[in-house]
Amino acid sequence: MGLIDSLQSAFVVQVARGEAPLLSPQPWLGLLLIVAISASAGFFVSRAGARRSFVVLGLGFLAMCGASLVTSKYFKVDILFAPMALGALGATFVVQLYRLWLIDSVLTNHLAETAARTDTLEASEAQARLMSGLKLLQTILPLEESVVCQQNESGQLVPCARLRAGPSGSLDTNRNALWRKLIQVCDRAVETGEIARVRAGEIDELESVAIPLRHEQRTVGALLLRLREDFDQSDRGLLSAVGGQLARNLQREDARKKKLDGNLPAFISARSSGRRLEAFDVISGVLTEHRFGAQVLAEASDGYAIAYLDGTLAYVNPAMLWAARMNDAGRDQILELRIALATERNGNGANGNGGSSDPLCFAIRVCDVTRMKQFEQLKSDMISLMSHELRTPLTSINGFAELLTLDEKIPEESREFLQIISNESQRMSRMIDTFLSVTQLERADKKEVSKIALRLDETVRETIATMQSVAKKKRIRLVEQTNGQIPPVAADKSLITQALTRLLDNAIKYSPERTAVTVSAVLEADAVRVIVEDRGYGVPAQSLDRIWEKFYRVARDGQEKDEESTGLGLAFVREVIEQHGGTLAVESEVGRGSKFSFALPRL
Ligand code: ADP
Repeated sequence: MGLIDSLQSAFVVQVARGEAPLLSPQPWLGLLLIVAISASAGFFVSRAGARRSFVVLGLGFLAMCGASLVTSKYFKVDILFAPMALGALGATFVVQLYRLWLIDSVLTNHLAETAARTDTLEASEAQARLMSGLKLLQTILPLEESVVCQQNESGQLVPCARLRAGPSGSLDTNRNALWRKLIQVCDRAVETGEIARVRAGEIDELESVAIPLRHEQRTVGALLLRLREDFDQSDRGLLSAVGGQLARNLQREDARKKKLDGNLPAFISARSSGRRLEAFDVISGVLTEHRFGAQVLAEASDGYAIAYLDGTLAYVNPAMLWAARMNDAGRDQILELRIALATERNGNGANGNGGSSDPLCFAIRVCDVTRMKQFEQLKSDMISLMSHELRTPLTSINGFAELLTLDEKIPEESREFLQIISNESQRMSRMIDTFLSVTQLERADKKEVSKIALRLDETVRETIATMQSVAKKKRIRLVEQTNGQIPPVAADKSLITQALTRLLDNAIKYSPERTAVTVSAVLEADAVRVIVEDRGYGVPAQSLDRIWEKFYRVARDGQEKDEESTGLGLAFVREVIEQHGGTLAVESEVGRGSKFSFALPRL
């Protein structure tokens, strides 16, 4: 009140003695005026912000001050300038404070969320990580003992992890005095932020080193090492880095324990602000550790790059830089380039759509496949050479053997042998043919397959007709089961017929006599599926996903010895179907039979 009075008298023209005193408004009117002015000042600040209101409010005060002087001098009226001005100022201050608090609570919530999302450590995990750090140090330094000390709320260092090299024989009677001295060394390290060192003989017979646990200018504790040998100065860098890692671990564990609050008392509490700062430390620690990923890529022999979604490169490793120098002379290299869109799954997929994934960045990889391509070339050259070289003599063997079987002069018994020679050489030829067709298909590009509109039910009918003779030999009945209208697919007729022939051949081969093999073509949602079902020996479950591999064969007791088996049939089928963009399926039960099928997209 005193302040208002003295201010008020400064902004009115005082009346001379004997004159009537200045006229003041009625108290209720005065109060109304003060409240109105304060409310409008507050409203203005909340709308326009403090900075912009500054000029307007300043000018308003000046105008009011002038008005006060004029009305008091000429009209002998006091307009209560000082209470109004103080009211407006107070309102401005309160509103601004409120605005700051609103922003602060949002900020605090974000901070709390972000810090919680970045991996805060569980208590047991934090302890395990501290111990693991100490063990690692023990493997590279001649340590007698190592202790991690953490600062508590009042700034005192308390041990939170400890590792001794030998049995705990170092606990002697003057241990407590020694411990106090060592803690002082740690305190020194924390205060200076530098490694503190005590030589052997100064406190006791061991050399001691205290490393401040520091991340981003904030020290959270100290690491005390008791060394059996002299401290090697070149270890400083390593120890500071280890100290940084331990500091981040401790900060994270701390963050887990302390909850951030966004209420008004927390806004003006220095302690809560300190916690917010600690939360920032946790986030900055995690950011530091995230950088490790990129550094690790620097060690990779393949080229890696990361690009933002606008195409700007965020990271390029040295191998990628090297690979990108395309104009280097004399480089005969084949590089494989892969660009993938890295995504992050979001949502838990509880609504059944499996959650969506947000694109993050591009991941680019370049690897040198020169050697691999060379090997592949060498392999396929060798294979085709061998196959061709083998085929020619086989044709001669077969041809001459057949010719000789026709020779009447040769005794009957020998002619039987000749027939065997001829059959076997034919079998070998067929095996080589299968082998060659698989290798050729593997090398072929998808575009090289000449596709026409093909009716699979017709292919089924034709293939069954050609396989009848083979089936008859084993008294196996081939049943065609196609019903309804089957739309055409785009396919290479000869390849699909060969694939189906091999499936049928297998079904006959791996079934006992007097059984039936059913072949059907069925229409699915957007594909036509051809199914070959037998009542044969079946494939054991553990072999099911391997039977499509080249040269893979299932060994089984009941199998006849002279069955032609190369392990290439299904590999060929797979190649053909994959070249057509189709899918394969197999269901089988040992002793019950198998169901092999392929589906091709309908036209
Ligand atoms: P191959 O028949 O020349 O051995 P495949 O690649 O055609 O080679 O088949 C691989 C293996 O899968 C065969 O060894 C056989 O044991 C098994 N298999 C294929 N089809 C059938 C079938 N219909 N019933 C039982 N086993 C089969």
